[in-house]
Amino acid sequence: MHSCGRPQRSVAAAMSPSIFTYHFIRISRNAKTGPIPVTTTSANSCPPGCSFKRNGCYAESGPLALHWRAVSDGERGGSFDALLQDISTLRRHALWRHNQAGDLTPSSPGVIDARLLNRLAMANRGRRGFTYTHYPATPKNEEAILNANRLGFTVNLSAEALGQADMYADRGIAPVVVVLPKDTTKPVRTPAGRSVIVCPASLGNTDCLNCGICQQRERVAIMGFPAHGAGAKRVEAIFLKGALW
Ligand code: SF4
Repeated sequence: MHSCGRPQRSVAAAMSPSIFTYHFIRISRNAKTGPIPVTTTSANSCPPGCSFKRNGCYAESGPLALHWRAVSDGERGGSFDALLQDISTLRRHALWRHNQAGDLTPSSPGVIDARLLNRLAMANRGRRGFTYTHYPATPKNEEAILNANRLGFTVNLSAEALGQADMYADRGIAPVVVVLPKDTTKPVRTPAGRSVIVCPASLGNTDCLNCGICQQRERVAIMGFPAHGAGAKRVEAIFLKGALW
């Protein structure tokens, strides 16, 4: 138990949905998303295999880190059912971002809980929710992600390098995003020749409210996010190592 008496929110515990905390804000103050509804999920939702975990993840530094810690400690936010309730109150066609920090809920380490993702996608029906995932592209996870995308909830596959972005795009189950070296401002190409467009919010040109490309499930372009924050160098190192793929 934590000193506050709450159950320890650790991946070591049985992965019942009750060990995860979900925070929902109707009008975000995150400059990159703009004033749209945004959620944050406790850090125990992140897959154990994510290379950025405690190794450059943008959400582990800066103001977002403080908020994420409070959600991860159960001091802010609520249950999955409460999250679904909040989503179901959003107006039709509302653009909203799931997980400015955190990932999809697992049923066991590294495995997306397909039932919960399906419920989330159903709550989103008629709205334009989108998110990203670092869960590995195993057949089970791919099936859950494909199902969510077919139901209209956009789940982007997050690649750590350009070669992996090609590999994900070849799967054809979901749109793809990838990290890029810090200060990248121009489009780049993957080894297979796919175009990677730099996120305009990371260039300070707009926000998700006015862009919304990440929500477009059928897009061909891969969106690229230049490494930033205190962990940028470590993210770059992972990106460059991935060039060997
Ligand atoms: S590409 Fe557009 S929708 Fe995606 S994160 Fe950047 S601003 Fe938001």
